[in-house]
Amino acid sequence: MYGLGIVKGMIVTLRNFLRGPITVQYPDERLQVFPRFRGQHFVWYEERCTGCAICAKACPHGVITVATSEGDNGSRNVDRYEIDTAICMFCALCVEACPFQALYIGQRFELAAYRRSDLYLDKQYFNTVRKEPSAYFVPDATGLPAEIPAPRADRPAEPAAAKELEVAMRKGA
Ligand code: SF4
Ligand code: SF4
Repeated sequence: MYGLGIVKGMIVTLRNFLRGPITVQYPDERLQVFPRFRGQHFVWYEERCTGCAICAKACPHGVITVATSEGDNGSRNVDRYEIDTAICMFCALCVEACPFQALYIGQRFELAAYRRSDLYLDKQYFNTVRKEPSAYFVPDATGLPAEIPAPRADRPAEPAAAKELEVAMRKGA
């Protein structure tokens, strides 16, 4: 029918005219982000981390520092785990590289700082900050509790292959 398009268009206009405001009054109101939202900063679970430093090797900017020492029964202590987010470009290659799901992109996004040093995250930060992991690349992160989860049952006590390789290299094999 001639003019039907105009009527349909006006119905859409009228519907939106009568709809209530949808503006979110940030920061008093906040939208809930999607589970795979890639926010700033990281979530790191010390209990899951073996100190293998694969994340550090995967980082194109070299901003992850991992230092370990010999622990009991051949295990490794992760003495230092640090990320300089002032240089990080949030590519998440480190998260994708971690074989033990110890590192996640975070869901927080309000982390502006006055000093660059405040953007340097260390173990104290990771172990005290509220954990809000993103499900990016790790879909089973959805619903992870804010507190630290139990250690993985299959966490290797000793990176045997790495140690054997190190010994072999020292021997010049
Ligand atoms: S997100 Fe990218 S740049 Fe940042 S620490 Fe991970 S690998 Fe490095
Ligand atoms: S790759 Fe994962 S397990 Fe290995 S040091 Fe990094 S966070 Fe820890």
